[in-house]
Order: sequence, then structure tokens, then C-alpha cells
Amino acid sequence: MHEFAITERLVETALRTAAESAGPDARVRRVRMVAGALHALVEDNMQMAYAVLTRGTAAEGSRLEIVRRPVIAACGGCGWSGEITPPFFVCPRCEHVGVEVTGGKELFLEEVETADEH
Ligand SMILES: [Zn+2]
Repeated sequence: MHEFAITERLVETALRTAAESAGPDARVRRVRMVAGALHALVEDNMQMAYAVLTRGTAAEGSRLEIVRRPVIAACGGCGWSGEITPPFFVCPRCEHVGVEVTGGKELFLEEVETADEH
């Protein structure tokens, strides 16, 4: 389950970001991450890992939002560019095989929302 390793890094980064931006007592309320479709992350696994990994931390009970990005490819044959459905990396216009993937590999933490408990 590669979701666990990815979520582990995500939680570490979110906690560090929250502490840096809102101080050491900051609580994390919401975390938003962007995940390209190429990573084929299973949302349920992400949420489960997130709940386990945030337990006992400043992010316990916070919400994880996952923003999906489609797989985008560009064709070197005819210049077409658009969304494709893996695992078929074929140009829908000219059927050129081996289009270049230009989007869908994203994987990053986009936003950490903190809550002030005072
Ligand atoms: Zn093409």
C-alpha cells in the first residue's frame, strides 16, 4: 500500500508547515493535496492512513482533501494535447503510440489550514 508512505510524508510536511506558519501550538484543521491520476491513489487508503498517522499529533481529527488531476498527454505526431486514460497511451486523433505525458504526475501538498484554539 504505497498510500501509507505518501501520506506519511504528507503529514510530516503538513505538521511542519503548520508550525512554521502558525506557531508550535497550531492545530491543523484541513489539509489539501493534489494527486495526479498516474499515482492511482486509492482514496479510502489515503483517508485511513491519514487518520492513523495524525493520531496524537496537532493534525488529529483534521480533514484530508484530495484534488485529482487528470492524465494529460501531448502527441509528437499531430500536435494533439489532451486528457488520456491510462494504460492506453495512444493519441486519439492520429493513433500515434507513445504520446508524451505532460500532466497527471503531480503529487504535492497544496494547502494547510490551521485552527487557532485560543
Ligand atoms: Zn496524434
